Amino acid sequence: MKKISSKLIILGSGPAGCTAAIYAARSGLEPIMINGNQPGGQLTITTDVENYPGFADPVLGPDLMQNMIKQSENVGCKVYNEQISEIDFNTYPYTLKSNNYTFVTQSIIIATGASAKWLGVKNEEKYRGHGISACATCDAFFFKNKKVAVIGGGNTAVEEALFLTKFAKEVILIHRRDKLRAEKILQKRAFCNEKISFLWNSIILNINGNENPKLVKSITLKSLLDNSVSIIEIDGVFVAIGHKPNTDLFSNKLDLDNEGYLKVHNQVFTNKKGVFAAGDVHDKSFRQAVTAAGFGCMAALEAEKFIELKE
Ligand SMILES: Cc1cc2nc3c(=O)[nH]c(=O)nc-3n(C[C@H](O)[C@H](O)[C@H](O)COP(=O)(O)OP(=O)(O)OC[C@H]3O[C@@H](n4cnc5c(N)ncnc54)[C@H](O)[C@@H]3O)c2cc1C
Repeated sequence: MKKISSKLIILGSGPAGCTAAIYAARSGLEPIMINGNQPGGQLTITTDVENYPGFADPVLGPDLMQNMIKQSENVGCKVYNEQISEIDFNTYPYTLKSNNYTFVTQSIIIATGASAKWLGVKNEEKYRGHGISACATCDAFFFKNKKVAVIGGGNTAVEEALFLTKFAKEVILIHRRDKLRAEKILQKRAFCNEKISFLWNSIILNINGNENPKLVKSITLKSLLDNSVSIIEIDGVFVAIGHKPNTDLFSNKLDLDNEGYLKVHNQVFTNKKGVFAAGDVHDKSFRQAVTAAGFGCMAALEAEKFIELKE
């Protein structure tokens, strides 16, 4: 196994990791960024991105991320196509292992992101970015005057439904139980909103769509009360059943909150010296590319200070 030493290792190449890489490389730290299983992160599974500043016209998620990785390399960051499977924080400098390498480093920026939970039903993956979304803040704008469904019953689902009413003409909240888990105040707002209707005790069996243009046109539902199956016409489906932060690697090693997100203080500091967190791996409030990039910048500037003090 090859051993590689670097002052700074950045885990993940989503917007947080790439921004950290750009700042760290430009300050002469010669960082290494590790791609993981999803080079470019979550935006590589979407189509048009319209809310990342700097693009007058929509930019495709994969193109945006390819450019961010390229920009990171152009300013001097080395990128490795590896997935880290082991980290040792007990000895310093820290050690990280992948299948092919052992990385030794003074400082780490964790930007491993989070993954939206999906339903796992037929055609869901096929129509992601073509009518299926996990982010109303990102995609509601594309559903002006359309009829959409939101799946879920917690805070996120109700918040997504409320946000969607600013654009869609009709929002159906579909939940497998007969009541919502969301906070009472959110429930009240949703029940009072004329655009929102509720379909209780129901699960999605299938998503149906057209091929050309590739767009969702209906969903097949099953009632959990009497097992009856129905089809409703719909233009978009927002899956809001939660997110899972990519932190399995750090459990029992770093402080995590009760949902598994990395705990931070002063924006980006974890509980280990020289170990910083950036982006969706700790931020469960905003979950946007631009906020992840902002955290990446902060983490790199703090890592730079930390390394400077060591030298
Ligand atoms: C379908 C969809 C559409 C979206 N649309 C928009 C939008 O239009 N606008 C917007 O602002 N936001 C959008 N978002 C949200 C946005 O994608 C995220 O907020 C953003 O990508 C978070 O960036 P991040 O760098 O924190 O993490 P991620 O983008 O999640 O990147 C995580 C990185 O960590 C790597 N990694 C994970 N584990 C390991 C490991 N063990 N070793 C090494 N690497 C590892 C992964 O391979 C990946 O490269 C969307 C999200 C989704 C799912």
